[in-house]
Amino acid sequence: DPDQLSEVLSHMADALPEVEALFDMTVLSPPQALGLTDQARELLATRNLQLLRSATEVQDREQSFRQQADRLDYIARQDALTGIFNRRHFDEAFGSHFARAKTEAYPLSLAYLDLDHFKAINDRHGHPVGDRILAAIAKSIQKQLRENDLFARYGGEEFVLLLPGMDQDGAKKILARLCDGIAELAHPLDNGESLTVTLSAGIATVPGDGIHSSRQLMQAADEALYAAKQRGRNRVVLADATTRKDADQSGGQPA
Ligand code: GH3
Ligand code: MG
Ligand code: MG
Repeated sequence: DPDQLSEVLSHMADALPEVEALFDMTVLSPPQALGLTDQARELLATRNLQLLRSATEVQDREQSFRQQADRLDYIARQDALTGIFNRRHFDEAFGSHFARAKTEAYPLSLAYLDLDHFKAINDRHGHPVGDRILAAIAKSIQKQLRENDLFARYGGEEFVLLLPGMDQDGAKKILARLCDGIAELAHPLDNGESLTVTLSAGIATVPGDGIHSSRQLMQAADEALYAAKQRGRNRVVLADATTRKDADQSGGQPA
């Protein structure tokens, strides 16, 4: 290191007169030796500074890579059209939400939402209008949720909403309010008119009859949604014996 090197150089400077006398010659005058030591010290200091600078650069680059990776991860979990979470994120988070609700013994409700007659909207007004409406509905719902609720676009014009700590009655009230709000939301068209879209929702809750896994919770909510469509749409239906297709055979693996 620099200190050791200058120590060696000083020793050499001290020892040189003896060597010079021995061989009757002048190798290095003391001022020359001092000059050299100073130069060497300066070079080492510069080198150290360069190393320090490149270490800082490496650290900065690493931090920027990490930020980029976090950003990419977030984008990969987001639905591009609506800006809410996508199915990939929901599927990943659902299992741990389910397990936690069970361990900490709080209720967990899952709503499966599907826009009513949405194909007709596309057919009548075009796909871009359909897209705009989809995004507006998703944003409107997202705005009304609590921080712990997990809302995601599950595919097409279908959404899932996970409500931790919410029992059946609480979830039904929330979904009824959301449904009413969406039904009243006016979507402006280019011709100055506007239209409204309704949605149907099925809700399933744990603890609940015959629901032992996240898969069963999802299936029960899906079946309740099917019942909501059958019963006339623009409504919320709770999973119960009348909506369950295979409640008796479904008891199986816990999540
Ligand atoms: P139902 O009340 O039974 O749900 O009727 P529906 O027409 O909504 O149901 P269906 O499953 O027959 O059709 C869903 C339609 O949603 C089909 C498709 O045109 C539309 N859709 C799905 N994803 C998108 C999308 O990203 N953008 C637009 N504009 N439309 C979509
Ligand atoms: Mg659908
Ligand atoms: Mg639909």
